[in-house]
Amino acid sequence: MVHEGLKTVLDGVLRATQAAGRPAGEVNLIAVSKTFAAPDIIPVIEAGQRLFGENRVQEAKGKWPALRMRWPDLALHLIGPLQSNKAAEAVQLFDAIHTVDRPKIAQAIAAEMKRQAKPLTLFVQVNTGREPQKAGIDPGEADAFLARCRDVFGLGISGLMCIPPADEDPRPHFDLLREIARRNGLPKLSMGMSGDYAAAIAAGATHVRVGSAIFGKRD
Ligand SMILES: *Cc1c(COP(=O)(O)O)cnc(C)c1O
Repeated sequence: MVHEGLKTVLDGVLRATQAAGRPAGEVNLIAVSKTFAAPDIIPVIEAGQRLFGENRVQEAKGKWPALRMRWPDLALHLIGPLQSNKAAEAVQLFDAIHTVDRPKIAQAIAAEMKRQAKPLTLFVQVNTGREPQKAGIDPGEADAFLARCRDVFGLGISGLMCIPPADEDPRPHFDLLREIARRNGLPKLSMGMSGDYAAAIAAGATHVRVGSAIFGKRD
């Protein structure tokens, strides 16, 4: 079955990957289904998409367990901010968390992964634009925070994530994220959304998070 939004984005991801001279399959498309309910999500699953992203634990809890029963090979990534009192639920529901950004949450995730014996793929969110209202570790503190995750909390961090300022050219932010990842030996980069995933892929993204270009406008 074909889903037009998904097909358009998959074609775009493939074109951008080839244009960057990168191997096809190196870029993972996360279909961001926040605010959409099962009737909108199921056609995307039936078209073959298996990796989805949600930004709220509560919302994900309401819709994904039933979908996962039907499609056991689905994967779900948390891409929104996490409170430490939701860490247990988050570790239970998700396969990856993209928003590790402070010691308290790193510690809570580490404790829950151990308690549930469930390893997750983890990304540290970096506030590349140093926007006061935005989550993420300050770029100048990223190296120290990554060392602390590893040495103090025993957390294996796989990559970095950023959300560039809405009104700026995202490319310097993608380049900054890639540079911080490179010097810390991290292979994964979660960057790029509906409006800029091609630029993110050119800059080395391994995970693009695309919502509205697949599902349509959110209310
Ligand atoms: C909503 C969201 C996206 C997807 O945004 P679109 O512009 O709809 O593609 C990506 N990343 C995060 C963190 C989001 O919250």
